Amino acid sequence: MTKPIDTGGNPGHLGFMVDTPQKLDAASHAWLRDDSLRRILLAIKQAGGEARIVGGAVRDALLGREVKEIDLAVNLPPHDVSTILKAAGIKVVPTGIDHGTITAVVDHRGFEITTLRRDVETDGRHAKVTFTDDWQADAARRDFTINALYVDAGGNLYDYFCGRADLTIGHVRFIGDAETRIREDVLRILRFFRFSAWFGRGEADAEGLDACSKLAELIPQLSVERIWHEIVKLLAADDPALSWQRMSDCGVLIQFLQEGENVPRLRSLLAVEKKYAARAHPLVRLTALLPQDETVAATVAQRLKVSKREAARMIALASMPRRLNGKLDPVPFRRALYEYGIDNARDGLLLLAAEHPALDIESALASAATWDKPVFPLQGADLLKLGMPSGPEMGTTLRALEDWWIAEDFRPDRAECLAKAQKKLL
Ligand code: ATP
Ligand code: MG
Repeated sequence: MTKPIDTGGNPGHLGFMVDTPQKLDAASHAWLRDDSLRRILLAIKQAGGEARIVGGAVRDALLGREVKEIDLAVNLPPHDVSTILKAAGIKVVPTGIDHGTITAVVDHRGFEITTLRRDVETDGRHAKVTFTDDWQADAARRDFTINALYVDAGGNLYDYFCGRADLTIGHVRFIGDAETRIREDVLRILRFFRFSAWFGRGEADAEGLDACSKLAELIPQLSVERIWHEIVKLLAADDPALSWQRMSDCGVLIQFLQEGENVPRLRSLLAVEKKYAARAHPLVRLTALLPQDETVAATVAQRLKVSKREAARMIALASMPRRLNGKLDPVPFRRALYEYGIDNARDGLLLLAAEHPALDIESALASAATWDKPVFPLQGADLLKLGMPSGPEMGTTLRALEDWWIAEDFRPDRAECLAKAQKKLL
């Protein structure tokens, strides 16, 4: 039976389940024959249920991209799924069982399996859900048409909202009325820009863009962790610049990252990445969008509650062009390599070239790749031998000596360093 679904009046969409007889051909979709996946699908089928692959895996497979994570939807309650899989000798981790999700682990690979759900109550951040056996209802609570595609064990594609057609033309479109869907979960604003960056082509969906713009003020009610997760994924797209620009133009960016508006520098960085076949990490791309200022980087890192490691990296990257003095002098570059590590120095080079496109960083990149970090020849024990009492002053002296050694471009050997230390202690 087909049920009417509110598609928000999108023209060209039928408004009811379109059980299109499409099939993924097994020959070009080897991932569907994966043994671990088939074990799970079979165990559920033998118990009278059905599991289908859903979301990212189907989308990526249809685009001919590599399928990485496989998420499944299932028409049985989570505890039943857990019992069935365990009985089939499959390890089960109850990763979010209250929300319907368990993770099956086969051959060290995790498969998230979520019971079909429909929303009962939403408040913009959390949803109260109820389990169902209605595939169409489960599809309707997903965010975009391209994310609501399912494939069953036989390779049959279930496309309830014309997601395949949207994927083909690069149309990222909310399922149903965009404004309503955003009010249910405000994160969908950021997901709209994330999926547009990855899969969108041509003009952005006008209804979606308008709704994002209209409801942008709701963004601060989201946790910064969820925001951060989305922007890192957005910035990992091949070319996130247009989507980021739109996010800025329609008043979304200002709600959580008003400092990150230097899209021209991001574009320049993307061109540098292409030129040198060097893909930059999303954090580096983010740094390109921010003013080159360590204080700003530290403030943003703190506001977005990024990990300590990420914060240190952002601050190091923000300081890199200044440290390299806008040039490619080998001495400051070696210093940067020593103090910030190869990865940061390499990323610093990319940022430098983004700022100064005429600069040729080819050989500097090569020298970074083969850099052997020199070891400072002195230790505390050496200063003790020279008669210095141990204590905090020793650390300060040692650091001062190391600074001198770095400034000398790591040339002084142990004997010279000892002589310098002796002089310093006299
Ligand atoms: P990726 O390859 O980046 O993981 P994905 O499509 O798997 O992409 P996820 O964020 O992992 O994206 O979400 C999995 C699926 O769950 C989505 O494809 C979508 O169907 C649904 N989904 C996730 N978050 C939401 C949300 N906030 N609102 C509605 N549906 C969502
Ligand atoms: Mg996913």
